[in-house]
Amino acid sequence: MMEQYLALKREAGDCLLFYRMGDFFELFFDDAKRAAGVLDIALTSRGEHGGEPVPMCGVPVHSAESYLARLIRAGCRVAIAEQVETPDEAKERAKREGSPVSKALVARDIVRFVTAGTLTEDALLEPRRANTLAALCEVRGRVGLAHCDISTGRMVLEECAPEAVEAALARIGAREVVLPDGFDAPVEDAIVRPDADFASDSGEARLKALHGVATLDGFGGFTRAMLAAGGGLLAYLEHAGRGTLPFLLLPEAAQGEAHLAMDAATRSSLEIIAGAKGGREGSLLAAIDRCSTGAGARLLAEDLAAPLTDRVRIEDRLALVRFLHDDPLLRADLRGVLRAVPDLARALGRLVAGRGSPRDLGQIRDGLGEARRIRDHLGQQADRPALLEASLPKLGGHGALVDHLERALVPSPPTERQNGGYIAQGYDAALDELREVSGNARRAIAAMEARYRDETGIAALKIKHNGVLGYFIEVPSKHADPLMAPDSGFIHRQTMAGAVRFNSLQLHEEASRISEAGGRALAAEESHFEELVDTVCEAREAIAATAGAIARLDVAAGQAERAAEGNWCRPEITDDTALAITAGRHPVVEQALRAAGNERFVPNDCRLAPYDRLWLIGGPNMGGKSTFLRQNALIVLMAQTGGYVPAEAARIGIVDRLFSRVGASDNLARGRSTFMVEMVETAAILSQATERSFVILDEVGRGTSTYDGLALAWAVVEAVHGTNRSRCLFATHYHELARLAESCDALSLHHVRAREWKGDLVLLHELAEGPADRSYGLAVAKLAGLPKEVVARAKSVLDRLEKGRAETGGLAAGLGDLPLFSAALKAQEEECDSLRETLRALDVDALSPREALDRLYALKREAGED
Ligand code: ADP
Repeated sequence: MMEQYLALKREAGDCLLFYRMGDFFELFFDDAKRAAGVLDIALTSRGEHGGEPVPMCGVPVHSAESYLARLIRAGCRVAIAEQVETPDEAKERAKREGSPVSKALVARDIVRFVTAGTLTEDALLEPRRANTLAALCEVRGRVGLAHCDISTGRMVLEECAPEAVEAALARIGAREVVLPDGFDAPVEDAIVRPDADFASDSGEARLKALHGVATLDGFGGFTRAMLAAGGGLLAYLEHAGRGTLPFLLLPEAAQGEAHLAMDAATRSSLEIIAGAKGGREGSLLAAIDRCSTGAGARLLAEDLAAPLTDRVRIEDRLALVRFLHDDPLLRADLRGVLRAVPDLARALGRLVAGRGSPRDLGQIRDGLGEARRIRDHLGQQADRPALLEASLPKLGGHGALVDHLERALVPSPPTERQNGGYIAQGYDAALDELREVSGNARRAIAAMEARYRDETGIAALKIKHNGVLGYFIEVPSKHADPLMAPDSGFIHRQTMAGAVRFNSLQLHEEASRISEAGGRALAAEESHFEELVDTVCEAREAIAATAGAIARLDVAAGQAERAAEGNWCRPEITDDTALAITAGRHPVVEQALRAAGNERFVPNDCRLAPYDRLWLIGGPNMGGKSTFLRQNALIVLMAQTGGYVPAEAARIGIVDRLFSRVGASDNLARGRSTFMVEMVETAAILSQATERSFVILDEVGRGTSTYDGLALAWAVVEAVHGTNRSRCLFATHYHELARLAESCDALSLHHVRAREWKGDLVLLHELAEGPADRSYGLAVAKLAGLPKEVVARAKSVLDRLEKGRAETGGLAAGLGDLPLFSAALKAQEEECDSLRETLRALDVDALSPREALDRLYALKREAGED
């Protein structure tokens, strides 16, 4: 057995091997240790290998899914080795091969690899989160990216420049990434597959074969790089499914530039999809998701991960949100109906993948039925926006299929097929007849019980059924004797502690009738099931389109609901570089403050324009600088997603790239030196931000010494202002930077207001114009509960420092002059140079003392001193 196990383990590679033994999946060696740790189950041992006991643990087959879910969540991949023959078959084989029959080992094979990116089981998937698998490779200097969610069949092919890979991967947010051998990409835990899988020709051939088409031209322009990545993705899926491919729709070609570009650092610092702790909690998504369906929530996450840059498309989405926002009754109706819509896309995914159940068919029926009702209802509304108009046809068109499924299925079909009972009465006359036969026989058996009681006079006689004996007659032991007589008409079957069990000819006949009819009925239901699945699969593209249209409506209804709840506004989208937000709020912080119930969020304006595009924001710690920066970035992002925004009014010139950076000390958890990270990230902004970009920089430069930090912050502001010319909010506690306002004409100074009141600091969280007057560091420290003596001591140190600063001109003495007075500096230098020339020309030894004195007076005059 170990030999077979080890061979399979070699095939499984770094996946944990689930080795089927009877009713358990067993794990051995290191696999067992790892799984036992993750699952918190007992680690035992079995036999020995190489003189050592073999560590082992196991999970029951019937509850394997929940264990799999935990292993996958912990980052493991699992190979499932099933028994592929019965013990009898194994014995037969042994006989044929002439090996000892008693030791015949059941053949096993890996039937599937379960990995984070290849899940379809309902129990293993999160309803409100897409499950994306991505593959990428490079072809002639371009990177192809293929990604799919096999739980819904969606597949997208795209292409980008090598330097844009990181941002694209951050947007896609794949659970699992596949790379060709030798390709270096910024991915942790990637799955490496043979380079040959990523050839564009075979990729194209695979895609054509999968969709049964002779050409892919009709589906969008796919480049070589896209096809190569697509091929790699399909090859991996084939490998994971051991030859069977999951459900995939026709691939879409994505246009890379159609999205607001954000790199991974920006995404995590804005906490868009995931909060600081990595989960949904605290994220923008959690704060705005009011979707009624899982599919809607997944689409909203996708929208937020890839906001648009095309004004018309954004406005289309906004018009749909407005339509539902302005009509609360319609919205409430729609959301009510949507709540009852099952997850069509995932049910379809399971059916096409061959893992569907009667319940999935029922969900298709119900979902399509609801879609039709939604279409009829919305189709009657006046002034329908374009996006709704485009969705309506996708919601219908399934009349025949829905009718068919309605006739064929019982109202709530089960998830299991083995007991039948899911095909409705009246759908198939032959099936009904078989059911009647078994029904009659069951009734006959019930009647038989009464008759036998009469005939034998044993009131306690019962006819029962179990899995081993089938139907049998049971009487208490004390009454059994008469039935034991050879001519009693009863045949003895089993003697129990207190009862004896019998059979009879009539019972046997009726029971056979039931089992025969039951078996045939089951087979009939099975064939109907397959035929229904085929019918659904034929319509898969159209069903997927319906699912997509419902999800889009759900997102819009959820956005409208959230907007109404928070009194949000519809942003105006323009093609210029304006950014004018009136009374903007941070959706997550505002919600948190409200939940805590103690404080009201203070709204703030933000007005950037070409002549005033960089705001330098000072003020005390905890004053609300970061919050202000992020709220504006989030408002831009939400607007370009096509949603309303938390503000009184917003005018947003479309942003091409969004950057968000936080000074090093805020994210200490990373491996690299934090200051290094900060600088690497800042370098990325300086090289990529454009005049259309929006950049928020929070305390950049604080990860190093004061002088270095100030110098870097200074230079970064100058570069963003003068070279990138992006719209930018820059929060800083370096007062000295205020002097930049003298040299940078499109830069203005702002601060978050604070007041000291009776010796205590009051943070107003209100933005005002002008530089911050002081830093209030000690007051914040006091607020934070630093001991009084320490604050007092810090105060005397500060006084000393400030005195020193007053005498020397401070940390930035002379800095303000740097760019502004550069011309004056040059003139000064030239003057010095003429003095130097005169000195150099002087022959000191040839001078008399009197002459020397005269020259000295002359030089002093030249230097400007009389
Ligand atoms: P800073 O970046 O200036 O140190 P933060 O933006 O981190 O300050 O804000 C600190 C805290 O102040 C936040 O956690 C929040 O609770 C509160 N806060 C920030 N902005 C506002 C606001 N506009 N209205 C009310 N409370 C705010």
